[in-house]
Amino acid sequence: KQAVYMFEEGSQEMRNILGGKGANLAEMTRIGLPVPEGFTVSTDACKDYYANEAQLSVKVKQELFAALRKLEDKTGKKLGAVDQPLFVSVRSGAVFSMPGMMDTVLNLGMNDDTVEGMTRLTGNARFSYDSYRRFIQMFSDVVLGVETYFFERELERYRAEKGYSTDPEMSADDWKAIIETYKGIVLDHTDEPFPEDPHRQLLLSIEAVFDSWNNDRAQIYRRLNKIPHDLGTAVTIQSMVFGNMGEDSGTGVAFTRDPSSGEGILYGEYLVNAQGEDVVAGIRTPQPIATLKDVMPDVYEQFASTCNRLEAHYGDMQDIEFTVESGKLYLLQTRNGKRTAQAAVKIAVDMKKENVLTKEEALLRVNPDQLNHLLHRRIDENYERNSLIKGLPASPGAATGKVVFTADDADLCAKKGEKVILVRPETTPDDIHGIIASEAVVTSRGGMTSHAAVVARGMGKACICGCDGLKINLEDKQFSVNGQIVQYFDTITIDGSTGEVFLGEVPMMEPELSGEFQELLVWSDELRRMGVRSNADNPHDAAKSRELGAEGIGLCRTEHMFMDPARIPIVQEMILADTQTEREKALEKLLPMQQEDFTGIFKEMAGLPVTIRLLDPPLHEFLPDKEELLVDLTKLQITDPASPQLKEKQKLMRKLRELDEFNPMLGHRGCRLGMTHPEIYEMQAKAVFYAAADLAGQGQEVKPEVMIPLVGHVNELKAMRLVVENAAQVVAEETGQKLDYTVGTMIEVPRAALTADEIAAEADFFSFGTNDLTQTTFGYSRDDAEGKFLTRYVETEVLEANPFMEIDRKGVGKLVEMGVNLGRGTKPGLKTGICGEHGGDPHSIQFCENQGLDYVSCSPFRVPVARLAAAQAAI
Ligand code: ADP
Ligand code: MG
Ligand code: MG
Repeated sequence: KQAVYMFEEGSQEMRNILGGKGANLAEMTRIGLPVPEGFTVSTDACKDYYANEAQLSVKVKQELFAALRKLEDKTGKKLGAVDQPLFVSVRSGAVFSMPGMMDTVLNLGMNDDTVEGMTRLTGNARFSYDSYRRFIQMFSDVVLGVETYFFERELERYRAEKGYSTDPEMSADDWKAIIETYKGIVLDHTDEPFPEDPHRQLLLSIEAVFDSWNNDRAQIYRRLNKIPHDLGTAVTIQSMVFGNMGEDSGTGVAFTRDPSSGEGILYGEYLVNAQGEDVVAGIRTPQPIATLKDVMPDVYEQFASTCNRLEAHYGDMQDIEFTVESGKLYLLQTRNGKRTAQAAVKIAVDMKKENVLTKEEALLRVNPDQLNHLLHRRIDENYERNSLIKGLPASPGAATGKVVFTADDADLCAKKGEKVILVRPETTPDDIHGIIASEAVVTSRGGMTSHAAVVARGMGKACICGCDGLKINLEDKQFSVNGQIVQYFDTITIDGSTGEVFLGEVPMMEPELSGEFQELLVWSDELRRMGVRSNADNPHDAAKSRELGAEGIGLCRTEHMFMDPARIPIVQEMILADTQTEREKALEKLLPMQQEDFTGIFKEMAGLPVTIRLLDPPLHEFLPDKEELLVDLTKLQITDPASPQLKEKQKLMRKLRELDEFNPMLGHRGCRLGMTHPEIYEMQAKAVFYAAADLAGQGQEVKPEVMIPLVGHVNELKAMRLVVENAAQVVAEETGQKLDYTVGTMIEVPRAALTADEIAAEADFFSFGTNDLTQTTFGYSRDDAEGKFLTRYVETEVLEANPFMEIDRKGVGKLVEMGVNLGRGTKPGLKTGICGEHGGDPHSIQFCENQGLDYVSCSPFRVPVARLAAAQAAI
C-alpha cells in the first residue's frame, strides 16, 4: 500500500487514507486554490507503525523522503539548507475531525544555520529568530514532552528584566538570547541537546503525531464520539507560509455562515502579523473578519469569493483556516463547520431553498440529538436584565450553576449531582472532562473560535468567551468584576446567546420553535414511514406532545395517577383491604378519579390512538417507606401506645412485610397483579371505557388501546383480555355507546418474544417495552447496573454502548425481531411499536425502521427528535 501521497495525488474521496485534513488539502489543490505545497503520510502508515512496535518502517521512510524531494523540487527550497531553507508544518489529521485532540508542529526545519538563511532571505532577523524560538517551544512541547510552561516562565523573566511588556519590543538579539536559554531547558529536561538536524526533527514529529493517536485526550474523545480506535491518523507535511511576516501578513479562521445562528454571512476572526495557533489559542483577542475588508481589501475579496466557492463545492457550511503572507492569501484547511443546533437547522433549510441540497440531503444534515437543544428553556423575556458583565456570545442557551474554576472541580462536583459553570481564563484540550461535566463555560480570554467556544458549540452547551473585565483569581478561587467578588460555588446564570453573565438564578421560559425548525419537521413527516407517538400520563403532557407533533400516545402509565397525594390514602385502603368487598369499595372510589384522568387525556388526543397500560409496579410502591414507618411506630409505642393510629400503622407494617420481595423487578407486578387481583384491572378498564363512552356520546372520536404489561405466557393475556372485554361489555350496555377499542400486550420479557406466535392470537397489537426487555434479557437490574458496573463496561468497551440508551441490536434486538416476525406470522399486519426509552434514540429508531415497526413512542420532548430520526431512517 502506498504510504505517502503528494497533495495533487489525492482528493476529498480519500478521507480514509489521508484523514480529513489531508484529503481536503488535496481537494483544494485539485480545484486550483492557493494551498502551500505538501504531502500526506497515510493512515495506513500509522497502522503499519503500530503493527511495527511504534517504529516507522524502512518502506514508509523511503516514500517519505522521496516525497520530501519532490516537495523540495517544487518549492525550490531544501530542508536544512542555508540558502533556500524549506520550513514545514507537521499536522495531524484523523479521518473524523478530532479538534484539539492531536498536536501540530509549525516551523519545522529551523536550526542555527537555517535561521540565518531565513534572515538573509527576508531581511528580517527579528522575524526569523522569533519563528525559531516558537519552533523550539512547540517542538519541545509536542514531540519532546517538555511543557510550554518552562519556556514561558523564562520568557516572562527575561521580559521583566528588560522592562518589556509585549513581544514586539523584543529585538532579534533578545530572541537569540532566549533561544540559548530554551536550548538549555531542553538539555536539562531531556538530557540531550535540542535536535538540530531537520530530517531527524521530521521523523520525530511524525512519530509524535502517530503516538498522539493514543493519548488520553484522543481516546476519551473517540469514546465519547463513538469513533473506532483502529482507524489511525494521517500526518500532513506542508511547506510553511508565514502570517507573522509583518503588517501585510496575518492569519485567521472563518466560517462561511454564522455557526451560532446559521445566518448566511461570513463569520470569523483574524490577527495581523501573527502565526496560526495565535488565533485559536485565544492568547490575543482577534479582530472580526469583516474588518479585514478595510485592512486588506484585495485579500478580503479573494477570500470571500473562495469561501463561496468552497461552500458550493462541498455543499455544506465550511470552517476555513487561512494565512496571508506578505499580501498573498493561502488556504490551510477547510472542513464542514461545527454549528449549533439552531444553525444546523437554519443552514439545512436555507441550503434546500437555495437548491444546493435536496430535501433528503437537508434532513440528513441535521443531527436529531441536536434538536433537543432547541427545545431547551431560555431566559424569561420579561426578566429585567441586570447583567454582571457581558462577553462574546460564543454558544447559545441559558444555564444556571455554581461557579467552579478547574475542570477537575467541575468533574467532581457534577459527579455529586451539582450543576456547575466552569469559569476559566481559557480552556485547552486537557479541560475536556470539565466542559462535559459543566452546564456552561465562561472564559475571560479568547474569541468566538477559541477552544472553549468550538467545543461548547459542538456539545450544545452555552458558552461565553472573551469576558475581558472578568478578573479570575485561581488561587483564591474567586473572580471579580468591577470590584464585585464572586466566590467558588456562588450561583450564576449565563445567556450564551447574548454573552451576559448574571448573579444568582434567573427566571426562565419555554422555548419557541423557529419557522425553519417547523419546516424541517414537516419535511420529516413527509418522508418517514413510521408513526411517532409519545409517552404521556396526563393531559398536560398529552397536549405538549401533540403540539410537538405526536400522533397518539404509545404509553400512558396508569400508576402515576395512583401516586397523586390526594389518592394515595384510597390506594392504600385498597391494598390494605382484608376482604374482597372492602377492596371493591376502595376501587369504587378510585374509579371516577381514573375516569377523570382518561377523559382529560382523551380530550387532548381527540381522534388519535391512546395506549393505556394497566397497573404495572409492585404494590409496595404505593405504601410508605418501611424505615420511616418503623421510626413512626417506635415513637408511637413510647408516647401513645393505646392510640388507634398505632394500630393502623401496625397494620401497614404487616402489609409491608407481606409485600416485601427479594427482587421486586421480577416479582409480583405487571399482569401478575391483574391475575391475582382482577378487580384492579377491571376497575381500570371500566374507567377507560366510561371515559370513552362519555366522550363518544359528545361526538368525539376516542381510540383507546388497552395494554397488558409483563405478559410472559399467552394464558395470562387470555385471562386479562377477558377481564377487559367484560368491563367493556358492562359499560357498553350501561351507556348504550358502541365502544371502539383494542387489547394488546407489551413484549418485555424474553418468553413473550419467544412465544410471540401464541401470544399474537390474543393480541391486537404488540408494544415492545425495551426497558424491561433489556433488563430481563441481560439479567441486569437497571438501577443496580448503571451505578455499579455498567458505566465501567462502557468505558472499558466491554459493551459498545449503554443498552438502556441505545438498543442492543444483537441480543435484545434479536428478540424484537423474533417477536415481530412470529407475531405477524400468526396475525399478518399485526400493529407493532416500541415504548421504551429507546423510542427516542436515533440509533434505536433506525433499528425499529429496519424491523418494520409501525411506530415509536418516546417522551414528549423527544418527539421532534424522533420525527426527524424516523425520516432519516427511512431515507
Ligand atoms: P488543528 O487541527 O489543531 O487545527 P492544524 O494542523 O490545522 O491543527 O494547525 C493549526 C494552525 O497552524 C493552522 O490553523 C494554521 O494557522 C497553522 N499552520 C498549519 N500549517 C501551516 C503552514 N504550512 N503554514 C502556516 N501556518 C500553518
Ligand atoms: Mg486546523
Ligand atoms: Mg415494563
